Amino acid sequence: MYEFPIQRAATLKDKPDPKTLVFGKVFTDHMFLLNYDAGQGWHDGRIVPYGDLNLPPSAMVFHYAQEVFEGMKAYRRPDGKVQLFRPMDNVRRLNDSCERLCIPQLPEDLALEGIRALVKVEQDWVPSEPGTSLYIRPFIIATDASLGVHASHSYLFCVICCPVGAYYAEGINPVRIYVENEDVRAVRGGTGYTKCGGNYAASIRAGERAEEQGYAQVLWLDGVERKYIEEVGSMNVMFKVDGAIVTPKLTGSVLPGITRRSCLQLLRDWGYPVEERLVTAQELFDAADAGKLDEAWGTGTAAVVSPIGEMGWNERKAEVNGGVIGPVTQKLYDTLTGIQWGTQPDPYGWTMPVD
Ligand SMILES: *Cc1c(COP(=O)(O)O)cnc(C)c1O
Repeated sequence: MYEFPIQRAATLKDKPDPKTLVFGKVFTDHMFLLNYDAGQGWHDGRIVPYGDLNLPPSAMVFHYAQEVFEGMKAYRRPDGKVQLFRPMDNVRRLNDSCERLCIPQLPEDLALEGIRALVKVEQDWVPSEPGTSLYIRPFIIATDASLGVHASHSYLFCVICCPVGAYYAEGINPVRIYVENEDVRAVRGGTGYTKCGGNYAASIRAGERAEEQGYAQVLWLDGVERKYIEEVGSMNVMFKVDGAIVTPKLTGSVLPGITRRSCLQLLRDWGYPVEERLVTAQELFDAADAGKLDEAWGTGTAAVVSPIGEMGWNERKAEVNGGVIGPVTQKLYDTLTGIQWGTQPDPYGWTMPVD
């Protein structure tokens, strides 16, 4: 068990109305900090008032993007208790990201207990309206004051939280997505399987272009042959083709999503044939032409599942399930959100109370 000193904020902010919340703009009263210094390891875990970080302009993170992050949520159950969803999976993935970015490994229990302790302190910030939650953003930055290109010797692990409104306040409307032929998000051998800020920086241009053309998200192709589907926006992607569930396999350029893993487990347990393999854009558009593209959806912590209603690729268009959410997509959404918000039993032991 870890005990973290808590420095309470002098004044507490007013809680916003979850109905008008914009994602990622309002933060809670406190944050968790943990330092790393070479020779000392990770030390001084503590909860302090939410506030600015004081860093020299030469801090390595600003120049070479030695940075990793996670995204997870805390959910208010009907009995009022607050729970996390597969939080150890986030901590393990954070360490996988650290390994790739040459950031020292965090002791798993220390990271998990830091996150839990913060959410416990902030539990009044977890909203209770349907579909709302507290988004948790753990991240690590390289803090050496140095422009030399090498791994930093000092780091800061920080966890901040923001209340988020219901993702589907207006109902679950399928989105239009566009296959991106030019820009790629990640390549095998690169950092695609990690959650690092650099991946997002590289993805912004294509996202803006897709939006200009009236599409909600980019459907990414692989960085080598630009033939295989990898992800949609910052979500994993799944298709139901002729009765089978098909999803890109984890080649190194695809982010191993925890929502993805959870969906695949449910789908297998429901008896669907599940294929994790290379999936070409060509076969999907051909399947759509043949009337065999039954459903398509993205998966991720923010939306849980996000149905895809239409796909564009050059001049080609593919409509999916008449532009409405399909039954498998709906069942995944209902089951996962039921487990996360505690309105349904959790036979897999995926949830963890914060106290
Ligand atoms: C975070 C993320 C996902 C989804 O992961 P979850 O663990 O399901 O939230 C998918 N793709 C990318 C690129 C991501 O950064």
